[in-house]
Amino acid sequence: MNILVINAGSSSLKYQLLDPDTGVLLAKGLCERIGIDGKFTYKPQLEGKAAQNAVDVAMPTHSEAIQAVLNALIDAENGVLSSMSEIDAVGHRVVHGGEAFASSVLLTDEVMKAIEQCNPLAPLHNPANLIGINACTAVLGDKVPQVAVFDTAFHQTMPAVAYTYAIPYEYYENDKVRRYGFHGTSHRFVSQRAAAMLGKDPADVKIITCHLGNGSSIAAIKNGKCVDTTMGLTPLAGLPMGTRAGDMDAGVMEFLMNKYGFSMKEMMNILNKKSGVSGVSGVSSDFRDLEAAANQGNFRAQLAIDIFCYDVKKYIGSYAAAMGGVDAIVFTAGVGENGPSLRVAMTEGLEFMGVAPLNAEENGKRGDEVDVSGEGSKVRVLVIPTNEELMIAMDTAEIVKAL
Ligand code: ADP
Repeated sequence: MNILVINAGSSSLKYQLLDPDTGVLLAKGLCERIGIDGKFTYKPQLEGKAAQNAVDVAMPTHSEAIQAVLNALIDAENGVLSSMSEIDAVGHRVVHGGEAFASSVLLTDEVMKAIEQCNPLAPLHNPANLIGINACTAVLGDKVPQVAVFDTAFHQTMPAVAYTYAIPYEYYENDKVRRYGFHGTSHRFVSQRAAAMLGKDPADVKIITCHLGNGSSIAAIKNGKCVDTTMGLTPLAGLPMGTRAGDMDAGVMEFLMNKYGFSMKEMMNILNKKSGVSGVSGVSSDFRDLEAAANQGNFRAQLAIDIFCYDVKKYIGSYAAAMGGVDAIVFTAGVGENGPSLRVAMTEGLEFMGVAPLNAEENGKRGDEVDVSGEGSKVRVLVIPTNEELMIAMDTAEIVKAL
């Protein structure tokens, strides 16, 4: 089966063509500057096929972008398919499914309307996702089934005690203001892989998954179901991130807005774009730069790293408490997969809850799924590369096969 996975943003569109049964990636790439000057990237994964890197392609709208993707995929010389009919289905990443979607769904007019109703919850992302879906329908027609896979869906199993904010209840009832959580596709993927690595059924294990990238979130997954997660109504909550503040006293906003006369827009820009480890360090949002600066003795870079690792550790402890124990802690995404010394710092001192110091040799390995637990650890510590596109392709295939 060939599934085209699309992640559409307002002026960009990432794509991958995958076989969900084997996990084989056939091609991937990126359309950028849609509606501006159109840059197209195509990376076929088959031997002998040439890549295209940031070539100029006119893409006034997302429809031309999708057309460019299809043209590249079926190109006589460098394509990986012989015709468009070899695309069995399209899977779309959709950011916000609100309370309407607890799992992936086949796209219909009704589903499109329900996604649109979630637009106020993700005003930057959902409209762009819908444009991507409409562009695919315009180019591929309605014979090729399309599926929506939501970032929020996996977290819909959270109980009210975990998702309700302690603000007047009417804002939940009337406005659906609550914790939703994001990165759900990644948390689901790595938790399933973790259960497989433990040789257990996902229904029998308690897992804490740490998705630590530019954006970071942690989820508590009990018996295969998410019971809590750090992101909230928006992806600004929880851990400090590359440039996002994460959790803090909401009173800080009033204090700074009064003192400096910031508008709400300016304040939100500070919290989303100028805070996190970048704001604390004044160096970078990238942990590689932070570690290099800290090694040179930069105090603020070290402090930023320390705050991040401390917060991760606090959430690990609190989620173990929430679940009444934990069998495995999973690290994934850019920082989680590539930061061995950060993994040490994030798990240090957790012997009291059964996490032994990490196995230095295993923790130094890169690239694949690794069990980095130290000797005698009751809690397994696993590094698992995430693959959201494969999860989207697998969901899409499952839905389409059942049609
Ligand atoms: P996104 O959230 O944009 O998908 P990624 O999951 O790709 O981000 O993570 C990107 C981040 O991963 C970078 O900003 C960087 O901080 C971190 N990272 C990547 N490689 C390393 C490394 N070798 N050591 C430490 N951190 C790394």
